[in-house]
Amino acid sequence: MQLVHDKVALITGASKGIGRGIAKKFAQEGAHVAFTYLSSVEQGEALVHELEAFGIKAKGYRSDASDTQQAEELIHAVATDFGKIDILVNNAGITKDNLLLRMTEEQWDDVMRINLKSIFNTTRAITKIMMKQRSGSIINITSIVGIKGNAGQANYAASKAGMIGFTKSVALELGSRGVRCNAIAPGFIETEMTGKLNEEVVKGWLQTIPLKRAGTADDVANACLFLASDLSTYITGQTLPVCGGMLT
Ligand code: NAP
Repeated sequence: MQLVHDKVALITGASKGIGRGIAKKFAQEGAHVAFTYLSSVEQGEALVHELEAFGIKAKGYRSDASDTQQAEELIHAVATDFGKIDILVNNAGITKDNLLLRMTEEQWDDVMRINLKSIFNTTRAITKIMMKQRSGSIINITSIVGIKGNAGQANYAASKAGMIGFTKSVALELGSRGVRCNAIAPGFIETEMTGKLNEEVVKGWLQTIPLKRAGTADDVANACLFLASDLSTYITGQTLPVCGGMLT
């Protein structure tokens, strides 16, 4: 049995990394997949064909999640193209690391805009649709850094902690309408984002992981599939760490 058969999912930032893994997992499990990309146009366009190979409907949209108007137009376009939206995964995100003393206002603003304002944009726009349907699952990809903090990532940690507060508030507001909202907090996952880190930092992180390996996009996608599917219909307002025990 496919776990999200015939559901319609929208995933932001799926041209690479975790978002791409989630899109493929959902398609494999029978969902029709709408997704966004921004700068990686070729990778975004190629993903459509990869997803269609699973026999589902797929469409990519070039859309900046941090732009309120673009996000509203995106939700409208997906609802029109697919007829409904059952699952929203707010995955698009960036890092602009620096020690606080050296952090520029621009580095702060960019990270808050792309990681935090983006989820306000898409979630507010989708709320009416999901309330009307009286069902929906919203999943926000936060980070364990939003729970425990990290030196050199004050902007990123603040944005990811903000996502957790947002998740809980949305769950409280929309629960009575059958709409669930949860967060996933990945630990150290091998993607382009973490590929930028220097070897010593990576070694240090790996030592602190009880399962003694970095996570994969597939590890996060599996948790996402659970929260998107009807296996989790009594779970809302929660943050699920996918970190190999790093947070323990
Ligand atoms: P990644 O490989 O750098 O991919 C980031 C994705 O976000 C790309 O598809 C990118 O699209 C998209 N994106 C960036 N800015 C965007 C914007 N303004 N509008 C729309 N899309 C945008 O990163 P990743 O490691 O997969 O991370 C995905 C999410 O997981 C992020 O929210 C990140 O904070 C979170 N996370 C990652 C880790 C980790 O260890 N990797 C750990 C915890 C949490 P384009 O390239 O097309 O612009």
